[in-house]
Amino acid sequence: MDNDKNKKVVTRFAPSPTGWMHIGGVRTALFAYLWARRNNGTFILRIEDTDKEREVEGSVDQIIESLKWIGLEWDEGPDIGGPYAPYKQSERLDIYKKYGEKLISKGLAYPDPYTEEDLINFREKAEIEGRAFLFRDYRPEVFEEWDGTKPLRFKVPVVKRTDWHDIVFGDLSAGEEALDDIVLIKSDGYPTYNFAHIVDDIEMNVTHVMRGQEFLPSTPKYLAIYEALEIVPPIFVTMPPILGEGGNKKLSKRDGAKSVLEFKNEGYSADALFNFLSLLGWNPGGEKEIFTKEELIKVFDIERIQKSGAQFNEEKLDWMNKEHMKNMAFEEFKERAFLYLPDELKKDTVIHMIRERVAKFEDIATMLDNKELDFFYLKPEIKEEGIIYKNTDINVIKNNIKEAIEILEKIDEDSWNKEKLKEVLIDLASSKTNRGEVLHPVRYALSGLDKSPDPFIIGEVIGKNETIQRLQNCI
Ligand code: GLU
Repeated sequence: MDNDKNKKVVTRFAPSPTGWMHIGGVRTALFAYLWARRNNGTFILRIEDTDKEREVEGSVDQIIESLKWIGLEWDEGPDIGGPYAPYKQSERLDIYKKYGEKLISKGLAYPDPYTEEDLINFREKAEIEGRAFLFRDYRPEVFEEWDGTKPLRFKVPVVKRTDWHDIVFGDLSAGEEALDDIVLIKSDGYPTYNFAHIVDDIEMNVTHVMRGQEFLPSTPKYLAIYEALEIVPPIFVTMPPILGEGGNKKLSKRDGAKSVLEFKNEGYSADALFNFLSLLGWNPGGEKEIFTKEELIKVFDIERIQKSGAQFNEEKLDWMNKEHMKNMAFEEFKERAFLYLPDELKKDTVIHMIRERVAKFEDIATMLDNKELDFFYLKPEIKEEGIIYKNTDINVIKNNIKEAIEILEKIDEDSWNKEKLKEVLIDLASSKTNRGEVLHPVRYALSGLDKSPDPFIIGEVIGKNETIQRLQNCI
């Protein structure tokens, strides 16, 4: 592999199935996806399941469901196969063994002859002497033959300073202490992450390794392995961390320390979350903030990923979600809104009104809980003080309601809709000193609330009879 600029871009997302898919994970996946798509390249999903003790049942399915929901389709992966299948590390043990043997044949890997206890003693000794423990200080003079029952370790060929370049973090370097004889394959036959990902990235022709910051300190070790294998390493693109609001290191629930599927269940739109995450640690320059996936694919550039932490801001996510909901086709909005609504409210007019008011679908449930939609199907409770408009005399108000009833009665059932209601009621209201003297009591009579959607919408939804009855009740 070489870093030839004309090579087909291949990126991968390589989660370990150790729990639910969180925001940091999807953001990494999303950047890797965007970069592959931007370059007409390949995006791979690879499951790194070599740590059997930490594996959480069901997490592979959950990862796949999360990525699919948010709209990241991969070109190669465990569920669809591809030229380098299988895409689950636990099914690729032979391949790692082959690479291990290659290093053994070069004299660059050897079985670890020590017991667990020996290692504990070495560590203790280093601690007492106040220095860092390095396995290479205990490297045996003569290597035994590896029969697979002992861990296979890498022999660092040359202990030296390491300098490398990262697209996001720039020129980096580390001293000799960063290099050590790390374990490549454990005694249970499974490779370590350190080794497996390198083998796979080589085998799968990955050109850009995009992953979290936690792997920066180990990068010198990885580079030494690439060198030992005589392979030019891929381009490193390290993601900036995601911080809580106010710059906290640890994300709270409010800051997005939630699984992707929780966002789905709360009624966020996948497009909005996609848009929001794409701007966590990257920006295209300029003022524009609302992007579709296609637009992001056109402008995404790894050179503009920032290295400082990106703050998660729930208010901004809600705002974006609202914007995306506005752009959503009405039928799609309606279909999702219907999931929350009782039958009485499954009407286009109600849906239009709701659409103006919610930031995410779950807000519909909140509106229902807060009884903000009750007036559409329940008679409101009316209180005298509620009906008064400013200092207007109560008799004037009563009279205005009567006049409203008279003109409403003249409207045909067939032309009973919010436009017509608006026309006649505004007409009546305009003949008064103040339009509120008519519009306020009508709104209140229909909803029982000072602030509600306009009375014309309520009138249309509840129909002619019910509208007139509510106005009469009021008097
Ligand atoms: N399996 C690693 C993780 O889940 C992925 C790191 C990488 O992308 O190389 O943290």
